Amino acid sequence: MTDMQAGWVCDPQLRLDRKNSFDASLVVGTARFNRDTGRDQMVRQPFAKYIDPSTGLIQLDKVRARNCPVCGSPPGPGLFVKDGFRHVRCPACGLVYVSLILREDILIQYWREEMAWRIILKSQPQLDMDILKFGYGLDLASAYLKGPKDLLDIGAGNGDFVLMAQEQDWSAVAMELNLESVASLERSGIRVIVKPLELTDIEPGAFSLITMWEVLEHLTEPKNILFEVRRILNEDGVLLIMVPNVNSLVTRLLHERSDTFGGHSHLNHFNPQSLTRLLEIMGFDILEMETVITELGTINNYLGFEDPYLGEAPVFCRELTPEFIHQNLWGSRLLVLAKPSAKAMP
Ligand SMILES: [Zn+2]
Repeated sequence: MTDMQAGWVCDPQLRLDRKNSFDASLVVGTARFNRDTGRDQMVRQPFAKYIDPSTGLIQLDKVRARNCPVCGSPPGPGLFVKDGFRHVRCPACGLVYVSLILREDILIQYWREEMAWRIILKSQPQLDMDILKFGYGLDLASAYLKGPKDLLDIGAGNGDFVLMAQEQDWSAVAMELNLESVASLERSGIRVIVKPLELTDIEPGAFSLITMWEVLEHLTEPKNILFEVRRILNEDGVLLIMVPNVNSLVTRLLHERSDTFGGHSHLNHFNPQSLTRLLEIMGFDILEMETVITELGTINNYLGFEDPYLGEAPVFCRELTPEFIHQNLWGSRLLVLAKPSAKAMP
């Protein structure tokens, strides 16, 4: 264990204070944050035009069926349909996922041209939170690393994380498919990979840190990218993953009303068990798993019969604290650090 780990990483109060510093519902307030980042204006159903009115589902020629992308089991009973997408829970591993996803060509086009989310990411209140979140993750991962500082950030967006890492002497490469984000990264002088990892000729063990900030939930086949990540991550390296947590208190309360469910984009909804299983299958050992970001304001609003995202309800229960939420892994995002396992690759 390094000096840094002996510091804030191992001090529960210091660590909670840092988490709370990028928890927008605590810092800015839920309604204000959602308005100031433009979330209230965002088009949430870009594929509503594909919904077949006779079934309420996306037209069959626009989708393809898939089994559980973690364990391969056939879909279990449906949980709900939202925006034309059926969400199911895997009976074997607990993953919640969209069983009929948009065709690959539609998805690729969408991700190349997607703008609504890019605008939110560029808003100042979002950047203020993201910088603190990225700093937390980078410090946490650094506590497990020594030696070369070679970073690959997958799904780098506008490059805010990469730029932060470069300031801390990381040699950083971005991977991104969105055309505007790629242009933005190139303007910042960041090296960008603009194709799937399996089509690159990156040498084995090339990176000591690979980060996937809210990426895995979007992927049709998360195993494919993790296979490549395992190959190009150094044996002493660290993989950092953040994904929405389907076991979070806010999602357990809101069910399909939660903004986390948008079946064109969020294809996989992990909980601690299904994410652990996926990483173990793909040859990683978990170093640590925790939750961050409570969405406590959203919870209060819902429990106060107000709009969950735009309401201003008073605090419902003072005993429902960030500490309590995170102790139970009920925060809205899972943050995982993993390392290559000593076992052979899958
Ligand atoms: Zn499964």
